[in-house]
Amino acid sequence: MQDLQSSLFFETAVEIYARVFRELKPRTPLPELTIEYCRFANADSFIRLESGRLHVRISDLLEGAPAPVTEALAYILLGKLYRRPVARVYARRYRLYLNRRDMRRQAHLVRQIRGRKFVSGPRGQVHDLEEVFERLNTRFFNGLLGRPQLGWSRGASRSMLGHFDPSHNAIIVSRIFDRPEAPPLTLEYVMFHEMLHLRYPVDYSGARRRVHTKEFREAEKEFPGIKEAKQALKKL
Ligand SMILES: [Zn+2]
Repeated sequence: MQDLQSSLFFETAVEIYARVFRELKPRTPLPELTIEYCRFANADSFIRLESGRLHVRISDLLEGAPAPVTEALAYILLGKLYRRPVARVYARRYRLYLNRRDMRRQAHLVRQIRGRKFVSGPRGQVHDLEEVFERLNTRFFNGLLGRPQLGWSRGASRSMLGHFDPSHNAIIVSRIFDRPEAPPLTLEYVMFHEMLHLRYPVDYSGARRRVHTKEFREAEKEFPGIKEAKQALKKL
């Protein structure tokens, strides 16, 4: 961190954002700036320019963050607003901070407590997710995976076919699969993929979190109909 200015440590968050703004937009007068720490359900932060005022809303998870982290986020948010590439040093510094074990634990708690989760029952019109889960559990995991909450998404999403939410220990599957014309193999493949997330946790070593680790990828190849399933998914 030898590139840090010594003044950094005496700057308030507003001063940090003002300095980064002047660096990115040297010819633009500094707009009025407000920074708010908000009780979001996650570590997201937002910036917007509205009638000449810059509003920054930062997750209160970052309220106690060291100045270099606040500075990194300033580069990320202002860079996003003004479509400037963010120097890797800032993106990395910010990621490393969020990846710290204590930060992850806090974020996890906050998601659990503040994030409401709607989980429909496992029973759909055509398929019962519990039945699908247990069938795959027996076939591929010796029946050893603990069953999480299982539910269908509200809409028949094509962009989000399924996801595993560790904070609520839930697998949510798109309703697009709960139709007679959707090949059962596609539903099985998506469920199998999400079950692998239960089996292979996210890798947090290093700066970047790795959701689909090498072990995950290898295990996924064990699914017998993977090629056909992926083909059929494209035609849904
Ligand atoms: Zn995945």
